[in-house]
Amino acid sequence: MLRKSRFIGNARMLHKSVKRTDYKLHRTDIPARSTIFSLIQPTGTFHLGNYLGAVRVWKDLCDLKQPDTKLLFGTADLHAITVPKPNTSEFRRYRQEAIASILSIGIDPTRAIVFHQSQVAQHTELHWLLSTITPMGSLNRMTQWKSKSNLKDLNDADAVGAVKLGLFSYPVLQAADILLYKSTHVPVGDDQAQHLELTRDIAQRFNTLYNREFFQLPTTILAPTKRILSLANTAKKMSKSDPNQNALIYLNDEPDVISRKIRKAVTDSVSHEFKYDPVLRPGVANLINVISGVQRKSIEDVEKDIAKYHSHQDFKNYVTEVLVEELRDPREKFMKYMKEPQYLEEITKSGAESASEIAEQNMKTIKEIMGF
Ligand code: AMP
Repeated sequence: MLRKSRFIGNARMLHKSVKRTDYKLHRTDIPARSTIFSLIQPTGTFHLGNYLGAVRVWKDLCDLKQPDTKLLFGTADLHAITVPKPNTSEFRRYRQEAIASILSIGIDPTRAIVFHQSQVAQHTELHWLLSTITPMGSLNRMTQWKSKSNLKDLNDADAVGAVKLGLFSYPVLQAADILLYKSTHVPVGDDQAQHLELTRDIAQRFNTLYNREFFQLPTTILAPTKRILSLANTAKKMSKSDPNQNALIYLNDEPDVISRKIRKAVTDSVSHEFKYDPVLRPGVANLINVISGVQRKSIEDVEKDIAKYHSHQDFKNYVTEVLVEELRDPREKFMKYMKEPQYLEEITKSGAESASEIAEQNMKTIKEIMGF
């Protein structure tokens, strides 16, 4: 009975810990003295889904210039190897491209600490400490290890047995990443919401076990834009791992490439009007969702703007125009940063030094609390 009521209490608290932001962030969204933290896997150039679903919110948070707020952003390069990266020169380039992408969308390294996760050793140290209080059952409920290892049948003992420990336990590393900085807010895409719930659960377990309110339970900040779908198959999300490169738009795609991909994007045969109907017209709805995200306008306002189009060609030309305009600046900056590897190196080196200072101090307290 007691157990049950505690669970209900927790469930309510977890629910309150998720916040979907408006198209424009407001200072009131983030209290002063917050610590905002998020990482992205360096597994290729960022695409529209990464941009609208996650990293543009990082830039908006930088632009808020909220006093006394700590911002930490970077690459989750230790997470990236949960799907092994034996091509090390490609992996090295991906790490560099991720930093160039972060800077090119306007994240200001004088406002935010920008670094690679692997540069701060305490992430893996805290991962171990937290893994000792994380139930296997909680990890078992996570969906990503199942989808990333292409498990079709959970009763197939051989297939389950072949899953690597790192892929299974990486939500604990994610919790360690976040809690290491005593983060208060974590901006992520919808697909990470489940891991954030686990993070709060682990933080609560730690606080309860050691009878200290040490970790504040971090709030999940969700971008206002709904998940961006593949341009080729609306049953799937837009994803770097898609073998069909026409299915996604990268932030550094040239205008003619954007135009070609949008021309090929699946829609339907209705052309007298373009309306948002994710069930009956998912292809059109996806493109409307993209415009709404880019322009920070409601779906209804976008529908009004596009009411004048009565052919696929006109509608798709408009989508192309909107994207080419939005991505021009990031593309040019990305090209520039990729020619300055030394600069990128300096940014992450100094970012890692600042992150390590916070990590070292918190780790010292955590170990004291745990009796080391
Ligand atoms: P990943 O590329 O899986 O490392 O994702 C990095 C961030 O982008 C995460 O916060 C994801 O939730 C977000 N993200 C990835 N793909 C999409 C998508 N198609 N639509 C919206 N957000 C996405």
